[in-house]
Amino acid sequence: MPSLTQAEAVRRAALLAVDSYAVELDLTRGDQLFGSVSRIRFRCHQPGESTFVELTGRPVAATLNGAPIELDHRDNRVTLPPLAADNELVVIAEGEYTRSGEGLHRAVDPADGEVYLCASSAPDNAQRVFACFDQPDLKATVTLSVTAPAPWTVLGNGAGTRGATESGSDAGAVARWEFEPVGPMSVYLFTVCAGTFHSRYREHDGIGYGWHCRASLAEHLDEQADELFTLTERAMDWYQRTFAMRYPFGAKYDQVFVPEFLYGAMENIGCVTVRDEWLYRSAVPDSERQLRAMVIAHEMAHMWFGDLVTLRWWDDLWLNESFAEFLGFRVVGEVSRYADAWGFFGVFRKLPGYQADQGPATHPVAPTDVPDVAHGLLNIDAISYPKGASALRQLAALLGEDTFFAGLRAYFSRYAYRNATLADLIGTLSEVGGVDLTGWADRWLRTTGVDVLTAHTRVDAAGRYSAVEVARSAPAGGPVRPHRIRVGWYPATGTGEGIPVTLPLTDDPVPVPELVGRPAAELLLLNDADLTFARVDLTPAELDRLGAVLPAMPDAASRAVVWTNAWELVRAGRWPAERFVELAATALPAEPSPGLPPSVLRLCERAADTYLPAERRDPALRVLAGLARVLLAGPHRLLAASVLARCAVTDEELELLADWRRGERVPEGVPVDAELRWSILFRLATLGLAGPAEIDAELTADHTAAGEVAATRCRAALPDVAAKRAAWQLLMADRSISNRHLAAVGEGFWRPEHAVLTDEYVPRYFAELPGTAAWRSPGLLLVAVGSGYPSTAVSERTARLGAELLARDDLAPMLRRKVVEADHEIHVALAARAAAR
Ligand SMILES: [Zn+2]
Repeated sequence: MPSLTQAEAVRRAALLAVDSYAVELDLTRGDQLFGSVSRIRFRCHQPGESTFVELTGRPVAATLNGAPIELDHRDNRVTLPPLAADNELVVIAEGEYTRSGEGLHRAVDPADGEVYLCASSAPDNAQRVFACFDQPDLKATVTLSVTAPAPWTVLGNGAGTRGATESGSDAGAVARWEFEPVGPMSVYLFTVCAGTFHSRYREHDGIGYGWHCRASLAEHLDEQADELFTLTERAMDWYQRTFAMRYPFGAKYDQVFVPEFLYGAMENIGCVTVRDEWLYRSAVPDSERQLRAMVIAHEMAHMWFGDLVTLRWWDDLWLNESFAEFLGFRVVGEVSRYADAWGFFGVFRKLPGYQADQGPATHPVAPTDVPDVAHGLLNIDAISYPKGASALRQLAALLGEDTFFAGLRAYFSRYAYRNATLADLIGTLSEVGGVDLTGWADRWLRTTGVDVLTAHTRVDAAGRYSAVEVARSAPAGGPVRPHRIRVGWYPATGTGEGIPVTLPLTDDPVPVPELVGRPAAELLLLNDADLTFARVDLTPAELDRLGAVLPAMPDAASRAVVWTNAWELVRAGRWPAERFVELAATALPAEPSPGLPPSVLRLCERAADTYLPAERRDPALRVLAGLARVLLAGPHRLLAASVLARCAVTDEELELLADWRRGERVPEGVPVDAELRWSILFRLATLGLAGPAEIDAELTADHTAAGEVAATRCRAALPDVAAKRAAWQLLMADRSISNRHLAAVGEGFWRPEHAVLTDEYVPRYFAELPGTAAWRSPGLLLVAVGSGYPSTAVSERTARLGAELLARDDLAPMLRRKVVEADHEIHVALAARAAAR
């Protein structure tokens, strides 16, 4: 379908002012289709002109100002006749439920057969639900009514009221729900969730909060409700206090755990949707709870950044996401027990940000070239989120926090319920701060690439610094960026000290006189406390000492800087991947923060799977499994159990895992629950130590949505020809597969252990993938490349096939972007392997 271009959006915004939508949905028409009526009141500034309304579905009838109009519906657009000054357009349509998480998604819970619907409208999928002017700067009030099966709960952006039960048609009894008007709002923030939800409610400070999940997860919501509500309430208090403004969308705030949600969560006004894997049904490490807390705070930040003041066009996605990312971590650090939020941010979010910013698909935080919505969608990535958030941390440091937040308050009051751009934000902050920030914004937000900070030191005969300077190099061709950093001095004894240093807009190295005369450090860490977005050099001698230095460093964010930059050296082929794994084995047992080990361990697995030649993978896995067994005795035991389940290689370890599944030799404090049982089974299936019978038996014991996905992953991981053939069919040809199952197939299919078995599929992947773009939505393409790419087939051939695919000029934007990224990772892995030899 043609994607709305920026030029079309500008033209239409100049022509129209939209006042209101009255949307009626009929969810009682069976398992394929739903009905919609969209009644749009809008004004036209040039009567007699025409435009179009978007609809991805089948229009049944339409009237403009009471007169029927001929349905000129091509692709996703209905062309309108000449407009009057004041207009009422009514479009009656029928839409299809999706399986991709875009538009109105329909999921069936295998646990009990219950149906759950959820509308995801961003960035241009409101048109899959009802006819609309699908662009963010045509805000209007939206009033929703829904007819649904009588037993269902229906949730929307506004507060809903259920009417009396009526006898319906074939579908049985129905009920009609009426929702309070919301807005003015952008239609990409529209949602409706419907099904037999289990709900919990709590009121705090005049706002009614709701948490909802599917019925089969009710016991888990009941058990976790207090934690969820408490976090929600504290975060809302923080935002209202800091922004000096009440929550701007009425007196209710729902959060809904949604099956098969495509992304992590979505900031629909008054009704945030969240992937329901985050309602835990098994024991999880604290890092998972920290992540969920961050997501709650992130989506809530959007109620101001995005929902109240909305980007005018998708080139300013960062105005939504960079702020929500920054505040999500910041607020969790202040209102929860997870005080190490910036350390977590460093390894979990910024590290991929550095990776993305040094890859071929990078773009400025605030790009100027987003020609259509399809290209805007591509920037939901590690640049718009963590790099942008890092830039905002720098900006807050530059202005001072008080001025920074005063500027944001002024921005909200100036642009409330309207749209804004980069220039509007920077203009307001400049005004409030009394400093022109245009140059800062140009250097930080309009450029790409990572600055590198290097220390130049001289040490005297007594082992003391006689000179220390910080030098900075900008990415090729880029301008120098200003930085406010801390230089961390970590001596052989003691906990070290961070010295503030400002790097102004000059190329000259900046001296650090405070360090002169001090003993030379074991580690001199530029970007201590992780205040800026820059790579820092670690010397070979420093790398050798990290195992001793890391456990003595008191600040999680600083330790995250060490891990990030050590990893950068692995990726650059300057430090063998095995050394990184060994460092983890040395340092993680002493790591107190819950936020760091999961990311570091994932990197270790990635190093073993892709950055080491095949024959050196098992030795690295043995180190990891050994580390996991050490961690089993400490606070990271839940994490350790899952790592052992993924990395076990020796007979003894595999027998131990098999025993765990039988409830034997289980370490204290490690419940062998559904998720861990599936993890172990996946490992055993991958190695041919369990087969279809064990998978079927496990699924019988855990006949849930999560169980079905896990079973799909296990079946794709069976090391035999027939299993791979069946998995391939699902991966490349099944048009009804859900996003979750598609991802699971990809994860199971390309196991490093199965290189011989899957070898013939590598060229087939590149040959068949482009054809799937004809019937796959952007969301499913994202998964088909994200999880389906042969990332473990690290070879010159895979690189060549990637290059050949990218040489085609007919790839859909999402397909091209994801392949560019995945192909780059093959090249990185090849370089890392070359260095490992
Ligand atoms: Zn967001």
